[in-house]
Amino acid sequence: MGRLILIGIVVLLVVWLLRRALAGSPKSAAEAGEQKGELVTCAHCGVNLPKTEARSAGDRVYCSEEHWRLGPRDG
Ligand SMILES: [Zn+2]
Repeated sequence: MGRLILIGIVVLLVVWLLRRALAGSPKSAAEAGEQKGELVTCAHCGVNLPKTEARSAGDRVYCSEEHWRLGPRDG
């Protein structure tokens, strides 16, 4: 009988951990999205991307190293 209770406790613990993991992931992803929510525009191709993923050169920003090397399209 004691063994059944032990198995029950282990099952409950696993379910609780799984629920916590499933509930926690979207929330932390949303928090991360809020942190890098500020969007900037690539000076070469005009694509919008999070500021944290952009490459900056002076007061201009670029979406990739290639566009950073090519520089602004209209300049
Ligand atoms: Zn670009």
